[in-house]
Amino acid sequence: MANYSDIIGHEDIVKHFKNSIELGKVSHAYIFNGEKSSGKRTLASVVAKSLQCEEGGPDPCGKCRSCLQTESGNQPDIIWVNHEKPNIISVDEVREQIVNDVDLKPYSSRYKIYIVPDAQLMNPQAQNALLKTLEEPPEYAIILLLANGIGKFLPTVLSRCIILNFKPVEPLHVVEYLTTNLEVDQRKARFCADFAQGNLGKAIRLAISPEYNELLEDSVRILRRIQDMDMEDVIAAVKNLGKYKLDVTDYMDIMTMWFRDILMVKISNSPNKLLFKDDYSVLKKQASMMSYEGVEEVIRALNKVKVRLEANVNFDIAMELLLLTIKENMK
Ligand SMILES: [Zn+2]
Repeated sequence: MANYSDIIGHEDIVKHFKNSIELGKVSHAYIFNGEKSSGKRTLASVVAKSLQCEEGGPDPCGKCRSCLQTESGNQPDIIWVNHEKPNIISVDEVREQIVNDVDLKPYSSRYKIYIVPDAQLMNPQAQNALLKTLEEPPEYAIILLLANGIGKFLPTVLSRCIILNFKPVEPLHVVEYLTTNLEVDQRKARFCADFAQGNLGKAIRLAISPEYNELLEDSVRILRRIQDMDMEDVIAAVKNLGKYKLDVTDYMDIMTMWFRDILMVKISNSPNKLLFKDDYSVLKKQASMMSYEGVEEVIRALNKVKVRLEANVNFDIAMELLLLTIKENMK
């Protein structure tokens, strides 16, 4: 299990907690705000481990009873809040797992730490239930809300939390991590780092997951010949993409990077800064078929579809409309 030294990037957040622990000034509520797979869970578990370490130093010792319990996932005073439905954390779940539990003193540690992954899924009722705890927390309670965006939080909740934003990790650090820890070759590591744009989890997935690589190749294969596809081809292509049971936003990311490259070709007419360097000739051809406005419209459409898919709109329909928007702007 990780320690602070294993955290890549996020130096300011690590420093914040190390200082707080040393000064004994830990707050009761934090929001870890960062996109999916940016490392929120890993960092939250290290923070919890260090707060509960019996040695009390800023770094977890890794040897005391609490550290060993944390490493085996059995620390009774570190509570990961879970939820049944995929897209909502209900008021009952917040009441059962936090509000009604928090008054019971810690079992064996200094603190009682609640970690809430996907906290942006708490509906307003759930947030209001939590508010009582945030307003009058017992001395020992610490709540870590992990979220990909703070737009869904009530202002009253936000005002009670310290918000820590996860910034992108330097591409060089990502490359270094992939080449040394996962033995990925330089060229691939660089592609993964550029593609992930500072999201280490995403870079790792691309580097090691065969399915993710297949998705990438299939998506690029469609993008290469999209101008020649008719409606039937489009529908068949979408059906094919649907076989990957990956996160829907992955398709959008790949397409967005492709059209960013087209925009780059239009601006600079050089392959140097492209992600899909190997496809320079195709990108150049497509760039000549599109206006600046057209490329921008496609990138806007991609963002819109991403939001819609996150709200569980039918995948096939969203993708077909998107591919048609792309075709319309490529003539
Ligand atoms: Zn320890």
